[in-house]
Amino acid sequence: MNRLKIGIVGAGIGGLSAALALQQKGFEVKCFEQAPKLGEIGAGISLSPSAAHAINYLGLRQTLLDMSYQPGDQCVRHYQDARPLSWTNRGQSLQEKYGERYYLIHRADLHDALVSAVLANDAEAIVLNARCQSISQNLRGATLQLTSGQTHHFDVLIGADGSRSAVRQALFGALEPQYTGYIAWRGLIPMELVPPEILQPPSGVFVGPGHLVNRYPVRRGTLLNFVAFAEREVWTEEGWSIRSSVDELLNEFEGWTSWVRGFMELVPPDQLFKWGLFDREPLKTWSQGRISLLGDAAHPVLPFLGHGAVLAIEDSVVLGRAFAAASSIDEALARYENARIERTSFVVHESRRAVKTFHALDVDSYHQRTQGKAADEGIGLFSYNPVTQVI
Ligand SMILES: Cc1cc2nc3c(=O)[nH]c(=O)nc-3n(C[C@H](O)[C@H](O)[C@H](O)COP(=O)(O)OP(=O)(O)OC[C@H]3O[C@@H](n4cnc5c(N)ncnc54)[C@H](O)[C@@H]3O)c2cc1C
Repeated sequence: MNRLKIGIVGAGIGGLSAALALQQKGFEVKCFEQAPKLGEIGAGISLSPSAAHAINYLGLRQTLLDMSYQPGDQCVRHYQDARPLSWTNRGQSLQEKYGERYYLIHRADLHDALVSAVLANDAEAIVLNARCQSISQNLRGATLQLTSGQTHHFDVLIGADGSRSAVRQALFGALEPQYTGYIAWRGLIPMELVPPEILQPPSGVFVGPGHLVNRYPVRRGTLLNFVAFAEREVWTEEGWSIRSSVDELLNEFEGWTSWVRGFMELVPPDQLFKWGLFDREPLKTWSQGRISLLGDAAHPVLPFLGHGAVLAIEDSVVLGRAFAAASSIDEALARYENARIERTSFVVHESRRAVKTFHALDVDSYHQRTQGKAADEGIGLFSYNPVTQVI
């Protein structure tokens, strides 16, 4: 088994985490990325205790410590007057209960650290300008054909090519995306522009009827990241990087507190994007023969619990452990799926549920409705640990 050659389609956070996890178990890995250069979009990402355990296991603890913002208390506030509706602790109390805390990090910082670690293990491990055209397999191996016409042969192939995965489509057919009725904006603002009095505490959420705003510092507190959600009946384009304007954003959040509008006004126009949120039903299985899926390719998830990348990183650690523990490819992929499908389907469903709580019309009853708990608290979300999970 330890001589297996494993190909990965996609060098996002999922594909690179998987590459690193497999390299660390002694496998030869090659990652194929369609983009001409490596990089991640400019946006923040929240990493829960389970992702922190996984990142520590992958040897990148120092990245978390050096590059992230570590939130303490987080507040949910009212959209009109910013009064606190609920408080939760993202630091010490999680640490005591789950052995890790929340970290808020710029996606590019995590991505850079993963790239460096993978390339330090094998300078040839990432191939750019390499778009998957088709895949095939027989009893001896799996073949990846690129749009360039090149073919590459492996013992195992993993599709980590995101929510519109070509590998998933080849294995299981098209999973039709359903527009959810939710749209989102994201932006990054230099922290020195933001009045400190609207950042109490710096990591916080604002809830209003049919709307939600989440903002927190990244890049060691030098940038303020925000994601703002609204509801819109029709949307056609799927993709993360559609330009918006500050006016459009402010119009959508008309009547909101200056705690929110005050930073929305400051977002540099080239740092403001919008997109529609699409959903797909979770698959019941991810593997066929020697080919399997990971991250958003396997289980696209709505962002309302901030768990898409968390799941991709968890998948990767479990995948590496499963291959290290198994004596055949079938056994490794069965162990991987058994340890992951229930967990990821649970998070997909809970993420759909969470938005109903955040977007409810009756904002004043928020504390009562949630019994003072954060949307992700008390549902078992943080109890999963990919490092110790039985595989
Ligand atoms: C608003 C919003 C906020 C979010 N916030 C959080 C958060 O706070 N915490 C969190 O954990 N998650 C969050 N997420 C989710 C998270 O961003 C995704 O779940 C995560 O990026 C998935 O990683 P991935 O590697 O599986 O897929 P991707 O990041 O989509 O990477 C796929 C890679 O595959 C490449 N690729 C695609 N097709 C091909 C092909 N045919 N051939 C070769 N390469 C290909 C792509 O170029 C890309 O590099 C958020 C998502 C949204 C929309």
